Amino acid sequence: MTDPNPLYGDACEDCGTYDVLPESALRDGAHGITAGYRCPNCRHTWTCGWQIVPGRAIPPEPTADSPLFDRDVTAQVHEQSAINRARKHLSREDGTA
Ligand SMILES: [Zn+2]
Repeated sequence: MTDPNPLYGDACEDCGTYDVLPESALRDGAHGITAGYRCPNCRHTWTCGWQIVPGRAIPPEPTADSPLFDRDVTAQVHEQSAINRARKHLSREDGTA
């Protein structure tokens, strides 16, 4: 079976470009990642949360001082990942998870 999306590609919602590949990602617990994207056409940046799919390559973790990573994307990935962790923490505490 062929994985239709082996690299966690996503579509740009600003200009509709398909298969934009994540620039970086942070692990989000044991089973998820928060991936960061920058559209090569319109430079829109966004994040997307994924369940880790076995066999897919996980994008590299962003490092603050590396020129490989766009600052805006890196900041968004860190922010969204922190929000996800906080949500999980809260839902665990009130017993709804
Ligand atoms: Zn775009």
